[in-house]
Amino acid sequence: MTQYAAPLDDMRFALYDVLDAEQVLKALPRGEALSRELFDAVLDEAARFSAHVLAPLNQGGDAEGCHYDKDSASVTTPKGFKDANAQFVAGGWAGLTAPEQYGGQDLPETIGALVKEMLDSANLSWSNYPLLSAGATEALLQHGEEWQREVFLKPIVAGRWTGTMCLTEPHCGTDLGLLKTRAEPAPDGSYRISGTKIFITGGEQDLSENIVHLVLARLPDAPAGTKGISMFVVPKFKVARDGTVGARNGAACGSIEHKMGIKGSSTCVMNFDGAEGYRVGPPHKGLMAMFTMMNAARLAVGIQGLGLIERAYQNSLAYARERLQMRALGGAKFPDKPADPIIVHADVRRMLLTQKAVGEAGRVLVLHAALLGDTQLRSTDAAQRALAEQELSFLIPICKGLLTELSNQCTYDAMQILGGHGYIAEWGMEQFARDARITTIYEGTTQIQALDLLGRKVFQLQGAGLKLFLERIGAFCKQHADNAQLAEFVGPLAKLAQQWGELTQRIGVAAAGNPDEIGAAAVDYLFYSGYITLAYFWARSVASADAGTRSAEFKQAKRATARFYYQRVLPRTEAHASSMRAGAASLMDLPEALFG
Ligand SMILES: Cc1cc2nc3c(=O)[nH]c(=O)nc-3n(C[C@H](O)[C@H](O)[C@H](O)COP(=O)(O)OP(=O)(O)OC[C@H]3O[C@@H](n4cnc5c(N)ncnc54)[C@H](O)[C@@H]3O)c2cc1C
Repeated sequence: MTQYAAPLDDMRFALYDVLDAEQVLKALPRGEALSRELFDAVLDEAARFSAHVLAPLNQGGDAEGCHYDKDSASVTTPKGFKDANAQFVAGGWAGLTAPEQYGGQDLPETIGALVKEMLDSANLSWSNYPLLSAGATEALLQHGEEWQREVFLKPIVAGRWTGTMCLTEPHCGTDLGLLKTRAEPAPDGSYRISGTKIFITGGEQDLSENIVHLVLARLPDAPAGTKGISMFVVPKFKVARDGTVGARNGAACGSIEHKMGIKGSSTCVMNFDGAEGYRVGPPHKGLMAMFTMMNAARLAVGIQGLGLIERAYQNSLAYARERLQMRALGGAKFPDKPADPIIVHADVRRMLLTQKAVGEAGRVLVLHAALLGDTQLRSTDAAQRALAEQELSFLIPICKGLLTELSNQCTYDAMQILGGHGYIAEWGMEQFARDARITTIYEGTTQIQALDLLGRKVFQLQGAGLKLFLERIGAFCKQHADNAQLAEFVGPLAKLAQQWGELTQRIGVAAAGNPDEIGAAAVDYLFYSGYITLAYFWARSVASADAGTRSAEFKQAKRATARFYYQRVLPRTEAHASSMRAGAASLMDLPEALFG
């Protein structure tokens, strides 16, 4: 069985030392009541809940999965999930970052991101249920009418009801313009929703009293494509405008999927058959409203990747310290033992250090993004909000795309460290690799994140977010230009930042003559940008550790891990740059008929 202990020390280092989050958050409106003592208390309690309540349910939940009962169209989650949810709700966790007005605690998203990382590390299947409630809260807050917020948000924030996000249909996943679900206006101002949605996370479960589906559908007069999509709130049990809960609605789970991982998270076919719902936001603007939810959800899935990296690292490290096999190439390191622990072997260290390096810098990246989110949500200064929004929207596809891809690599490496035992279910490591696989697919595949990054955030928006982030790197490099201790990081970082700008321009010029150049470069661009982003956060981490009061061992570990990252992970940018320079021709020239 695998273990989990929240990495509170590294979390606090990222939060307070690297990002100075306490001061940043206090300086924002509604910051007076915030303090390090408050944050620490929340993090300690989340660590306890994750390690002692959720983590022990992870492996059993995977083995048992969810159960579907056809007669009642109901879903039962694995043993222990319901009780864990009751404890989560009783502890007030469901409303941690929600506004006080709706019963929440109004804590910053930055703290929410750390709590989320712990829940994800402990039990990814379970943590999917509250994840979508957070997305629904966000969408209703920003686009719902006042009565909708009153009626739906309070029970979601209290944790009595949960949310879902219903986009995907059998014939339409990435291309939402194809969706067919219909919404007919009723005389009382509500709508009747009909259609089939598939792969709906938490579409049915036994954790909450009611389930609030946010459904994308078309009105009768809707234009074709993405410009004709509206968003509706459709509860499992009907809800009147005064909040009275009525009979079962025409929204039922038709079946659940049997899948590779996250088996304790129900993945449902949802049949809407004249279900009563209410429009959220203006007609035909549903995709825009859903994007509010998707941005939050994309960052959340990036955090899932981070959570899995951390859990896999902790367990492969413990194994590497204990498992005795072979001797170190330079002679026995532990001559009193029958063999050396495998942590002495160079390639085992490579796999461990890769996990440690991308996990620790990934955490700073996620928290930086969450701080931008808090600035965007809390600041009353329009210019400050706009800048935060630009940089955040640029970083979201990187957080989602890079961290989930790296979680696949890290969980693969963690399994490899356990050798044959890694492949055996009893040890628990293969579950992480299976659980990680979905994170590069849902909430927009890696390919879609990459197109969003390069096509939309960089080219359509004239590179506003990229420019801000490059300025950030430039300012850091300038500030530390004379710091000999940081030269090994600042030099390569400054060079790469310059190359990043040049390569972007080069792709832009090529794409002006051939739009396929964007698709051909996009995924390489995402990885390339992501690796430089992590390099920046590594350089900042070393600078912060050097300047702080932590132990010599802590500083040494940060520097050595950063050095490993710069020497052994960052060079991957060279291969990605080379692929991008090669252009689209070798991808697009082969006629489809000649593929075989
Ligand atoms: C376990 C699970 C849970 C899920 N939860 C939810 C949920 O709660 N709500 C919900 O609405 N959906 C959910 N989904 C659906 C998920 O978001 C979709 O599966 C995903 O968006 C991809 O859509 P698709 O499966 O139809 O693949 P497709 O859209 O058919 O894509 C197939 C492949 O083509 C690639 N592709 C498509 N277009 C392009 C392009 N322009 N350029 C490059 N490559 C492209 C894709 O990247 C992918 O590799 C879930 C799915 C699973 C498996």
